[in-house]
Amino acid sequence: MTKFKRKNEKKYKTKIRKGDMVMLIAGKDKGKKGKVLEVFPKEGRLVVERINVVKRHQRATREFQGGIIEKAGRIPVAKVMLVCPKCNEPSRVKRAAEGRLCKRCNEIVDKVK
Ligand SMILES: [Zn+2]
Repeated sequence: MTKFKRKNEKKYKTKIRKGDMVMLIAGKDKGKKGKVLEVFPKEGRLVVERINVVKRHQRATREFQGGIIEKAGRIPVAKVMLVCPKCNEPSRVKRAAEGRLCKRCNEIVDKVK
């Protein structure tokens, strides 16, 4: 019996999903908006379009030509806030029976699938 759960088994609670518009609320990209490309619940991180892009210098191999490739880095979920499609403001969401609800305008962000 293990007393503690292993760190990588932990799932972070997030109301942000793939395809959402989010705004960065911390870090060097603060205030920027982007679309969520991928969510990693186990890491509590996500990838946002055009945010935290890291340039990697790839050495040429047989498969790759080499050069600089741009890759979106993973950012912690805590650094982003969902942008409500109804009021266009970064807002907190709550889970309701109908789906996710914007706390600012009380509109349903999306329906439960
Ligand atoms: Zn709203």
